[in-house]
Amino acid sequence: MSDERSSRSTARAETNRNIRMAVKCSDLSDLETETWDFLCECGDDGCESWITLTLAEYEALRGKDEPILAAGHTVGVPALARRKAHALAEDAQALRAQAEIQKRRAARHVGKDGG
Ligand SMILES: [Zn+2]
Repeated sequence: MSDERSSRSTARAETNRNIRMAVKCSDLSDLETETWDFLCECGDDGCESWITLTLAEYEALRGKDEPILAAGHTVGVPALARRKAHALAEDAQALRAQAEIQKRRAARHVGKDGG
């Protein structure tokens, strides 16, 4: 279920990319101030919200890897939680590796001094 939701969210992000491409490719003079409608990327089945942004605003969000969301809408939590869990797992791994090195170092010391 949650995967379905996140793939819908991805499809919407793709649509938004296409909108941006279309805007960029068309010959429009006032790209800086002109606003465009982008699809809400919350991935909710019934969501048909559009968000009005300038290209600069859109690109700023994209640059931060932030989804385009209507006010009050949230992206599927599982996708974000997964990303966070992955980062935590990497942290834990790094800590474990560090602890391993320190343990070995301590063991060497004990061996030498205890001689
Ligand atoms: Zn939405």
